[in-house]
Amino acid sequence: MELNENARVDTSQVDDRRGSGGGGGMGIPIPIGGGRGGIVGIIIAVVVALVGGGFGLNAATGGGGSEQGDNTSLEQKCSAQDALEQLDCRNTLYVNSIQAYWRTAMPEAFGEQYRPSKTVFFSQNVSTACGAADSGVGPFYCPADDQVYIDLTFYRLLADQLGAEGEFAQPYVLAHEYGHHVQNLLGTEAQMRRQQQRDPQSANALSVKLELQADCYAGAWAKNATGTADDRGQKIFKSITEQDISQAIDAAEKIGDDAIQKRSGRPVNPDEFTHGTSEQRKQWFTKGYTTGDPKSCDTFGAGV
Ligand SMILES: [Zn+2]
Repeated sequence: MELNENARVDTSQVDDRRGSGGGGGMGIPIPIGGGRGGIVGIIIAVVVALVGGGFGLNAATGGGGSEQGDNTSLEQKCSAQDALEQLDCRNTLYVNSIQAYWRTAMPEAFGEQYRPSKTVFFSQNVSTACGAADSGVGPFYCPADDQVYIDLTFYRLLADQLGAEGEFAQPYVLAHEYGHHVQNLLGTEAQMRRQQQRDPQSANALSVKLELQADCYAGAWAKNATGTADDRGQKIFKSITEQDISQAIDAAEKIGDDAIQKRSGRPVNPDEFTHGTSEQRKQWFTKGYTTGDPKSCDTFGAGV
C-alpha cells in the first residue's frame, strides 16, 4: 500500500480527544506484552472489538458525547511534510478515504445520501452518547451520536497479541466501523435491534449478520479505495496490493469468534458467536472486495 504524499489530510473528519499537550506516558489500561491478568483483558478487548453497539457500555451515563476535543496539534502535525509517517495522520487519511467512498457509493447503491461521521481519537477512556467507554472495549461505533471511537493503541494489541500485523489491518478496522455507520444511516441497525427484541433467541445470530455485513462493506471500500480522492481531487492511495488485502483478510480471520474462543482456551461454542467465525468474516470481506458493490452484502437475506 502506498499513500499519496500530496493528498491533504482532512482533520475536520476526526475529533482529537487525546488531550493535547498534556498527559505524557498515558498507556492503555490493559497490559500489553504480558502480565498474566493481561490475557483476559485482551480477550475481552478483542471480543468486543469492532462491535457497533451492544458493546456493554454503561448507558446510565448517557447524555455524554458533547465533549469536544482539540485538533490544533493534530492539524499542525498532519499538514507537515512527514505527516504520513504519523499513525494518527495516516488514520485520519483512511477515514477521509472511507467517507469519500461512501459519499458516492451510498447514493449509487442505496439511493440515500451519505452523512459524514467523525472518528474520535481518545486515550484510555471517553464519554459518548452510548455511555462511558474505555480502551478495553476496542474500537466501536456509537449509533446514538453517529461517531466512531478508537484508541489508536488498539493496533499494537492487534499486531502484538493477535498477530494481525500489517498496516492494512488499520483501514480495515476503520472501514468496518464506518460500515456500522452506513447501517445506521440505512436503518439496518435499528431494524436489527427491533428484531432482536422480538426474538431474543436469535439475538446473537442477528448480531453476526450485522457484523458480517460491516466486514463486507469494508471489502467494498477496499476494492474502490484507490479511486478515492481528497477534497482537492488528489488521490489518497497510490496503490493497494494483493498483500494489503491479505492483511485485511488476516485481521478479519484473527478476530473471528471461534479464533477468539480458541485463544482464550474455551471450547468453541457457536451459540455465543456475535461477530461470525474466522471463515465467515473472511468470506464476507472477500465478497465485498470481489464485487466492489455494497449491494452484494445482503447477509440478512443470505441465511448466514
Ligand atoms: Zn462491528
